[in-house]
Amino acid sequence: MIPAEFEYVAPQSLDEALAALRDGGEDAKLLAGGHSLLPLMKLRLAAPSLLVDLRRVPGLEGIRREGDTWRIGAMTRHAAVAAEQDLGLVAHAASLIADPQVRHRGTIGGSIAHGDAASDLPTVVVALDGEIVVHGQEGERTIPAGDFFQGFFETALGPRDVVTEIRVPKLGTSGWSYQKFTRRAQDWATVGVAAVTRRDDGKIAEAAIALTNMGPTPIRARAVEGALAGASVDSLAPAAELADEGTSPPSDTNATAEYRRHLARVLVRRAVEEALAR
Ligand code: FAD
Repeated sequence: MIPAEFEYVAPQSLDEALAALRDGGEDAKLLAGGHSLLPLMKLRLAAPSLLVDLRRVPGLEGIRREGDTWRIGAMTRHAAVAAEQDLGLVAHAASLIADPQVRHRGTIGGSIAHGDAASDLPTVVVALDGEIVVHGQEGERTIPAGDFFQGFFETALGPRDVVTEIRVPKLGTSGWSYQKFTRRAQDWATVGVAAVTRRDDGKIAEAAIALTNMGPTPIRARAVEGALAGASVDSLAPAAELADEGTSPPSDTNATAEYRRHLARVLVRRAVEEALAR
């Protein structure tokens, strides 16, 4: 279908983008890679009166490391994230998103801001206890990823906010894994699991686990994390059985909620095994 009519601007600075959002009112929307927003507009599920395209705003694209922190510009394409192998878990998850066309247009900032619980990068950023840097009309603020995703396509962003950067810690000696289950190659995750583990002397010193598509937001599998902390590396199976605690997976044409619960238990075990082995 053809989208409803809209105005379009491509500001040359962040200040201009913020001004365009302010002056454009509630119906103004940012445009990044367009791979979530444009399909919604074509289906007329979204009808913004103004699109504020971020592609000419300098300083929003690129990946750099500062000490123990990776700083990823919001307009960095999935393909560029996937190519930065030192990013580990984030790069691997980005490489599993859709097909090359989507990865060369879609951006990490767009994926985070869109807040789709079936997306891969929000889960990974939550597992890593990352941070989202946001510029709003009142200046800059940094939001922990755990507080950012608030509901079904609902985030801590206001309508006049711009995500400018995603920060994640450098993993050091921790192991990691992202397990994505799809019915067909290049699909969205039926269920996904991100795991980050730290071993200490035959024991699991720490485990962070987050789930994709097991509820309205990325969900930390706290019951599994608690069961694994201090446990022997051989005692994964009973902990993985707790994977669906506190989740509310959807039923749709890809899977029933019950099947998703089963997948979560299987994938958590695989993810932790792979993370510990890495
Ligand atoms: P856009 O579509 O431009 O914007 C999305 C939303 O975020 C809009 O509301 C926009 O206003 C807002 N926004 C964008 N940038 C900012 C910003 N910097 N600050 C504040 N708000 C902003 N994703 C996956 O994770 N896994 C998949 O397997 C997957 N498969 C896909 C398959 C297909 C066929 C398609 C079309 C998409 C798929 N995606 C998948 C989604 C893809 O990753 C999108 O690119 C991503 O979700 C949105 O990024 P974008 O840059 O395209 O954002």
